[in-house]
Amino acid sequence: MHKVPLEDLIVRQEDMPFFSRKLLEKHQLELLNTQLKRAKAVSPFYKYYPDKVASLEELSTLPFITAQELRENYSKLCLSSLEELTRVRTEYTSGTVGAPKKMAYSDYDSARTTEFFANGLAELIFPGDKVIICFPYTDSLSLGGLIGEAVRRIGAVPLLPGHDRSYGEFLDIIRENEANVYLGPPVLLLSLLRLQPDTTLKRALVSGDHCSETVLSFCEEILGSKLFPHYGLRESGLGGAYTCTAHAGMHIRENDMICEIIDETGSPLPDGDWGELVITTIGLEAMPLFRYRTGDFARILEGTCPCGSEVKRLEVMGRISKNAVMGHYEDILFGFDNIIDFHISDNSVILSVRDNDSELMSAVQKHLRGFDVKMITAKLTDRPMYTGKRRIL
Ligand SMILES: [Zn+2]
Repeated sequence: MHKVPLEDLIVRQEDMPFFSRKLLEKHQLELLNTQLKRAKAVSPFYKYYPDKVASLEELSTLPFITAQELRENYSKLCLSSLEELTRVRTEYTSGTVGAPKKMAYSDYDSARTTEFFANGLAELIFPGDKVIICFPYTDSLSLGGLIGEAVRRIGAVPLLPGHDRSYGEFLDIIRENEANVYLGPPVLLLSLLRLQPDTTLKRALVSGDHCSETVLSFCEEILGSKLFPHYGLRESGLGGAYTCTAHAGMHIRENDMICEIIDETGSPLPDGDWGELVITTIGLEAMPLFRYRTGDFARILEGTCPCGSEVKRLEVMGRISKNAVMGHYEDILFGFDNIIDFHISDNSVILSVRDNDSELMSAVQKHLRGFDVKMITAKLTDRPMYTGKRRIL
């Protein structure tokens, strides 16, 4: 185990003489105030915001920005001019009424995120590695594209199939290239390892969705190594927090993002307590957000990491509301070795299984009372049952 390299990155990016929490927090406050002043000058959305706060604690006096506000106020929340934007990411979520959620990034934002990715990926990727990247990939500025560039910087080879392929296609790419590292959603990794346990994969970073305990332990056993969970979302500029070799929570890119945890009433909670994660993205150029409510259930771990770093660490359990329940079903259903994937809605469950046997059906039904359960045999031509976040529809 070695100290997380994120400290070096923060020192380099912020031109700090050395890393210390005191210096980092001083820096966070300066960045926060620079962004507040800028936001107030540029956008009417921030008319009633102060142009500075006296301390980081005072951040908690600012109002929250919700996902709904983000949807409704995209043009006011984006502080860069259209010419300065290199990327506008639009998220159409099924079941959402009204405008889609949009996030914009500048060149600077994408470059910062790529640096963060390269720094974090170096914990599990080494020169010469063949890395399959199962995240959305359309071009060099898409999530897959930025990660691909980060992998290249380490001296490893990125394989970029994107996220929406059949199991057979993913498995062919892994086998033909002898890929030894997987980067992608946790359940897809489980599905691939269940369909092809004899694999060249040795290490994995999982992101894009909560990784339930059952999925984690199954994948770790097959790979013979511990997983590296990453946390990021569009609103945080895609990168957010990554796991170091101590595997004790995810270190936050604190020079770009201030994290708070709040309770149901919106009051800040101390480190160690579980609540909703709220982020303030002081490092984003195009669209910094102040106190954005992520809807994710999380906590900030107390104290210094076993790796020796004082960069704060996050633990994320998944979405508040219905998706906490999704994790519960994952823990139960993936406990059955035969289950490759499943899709769940309010009253029905479709199970994709290796062998369609009646014993499994009756065992599963005990856990799924009230649901109409259907079983289908998994085929290599099937695609994952979810392409985005797994949720109960
Ligand atoms: Zn650490």
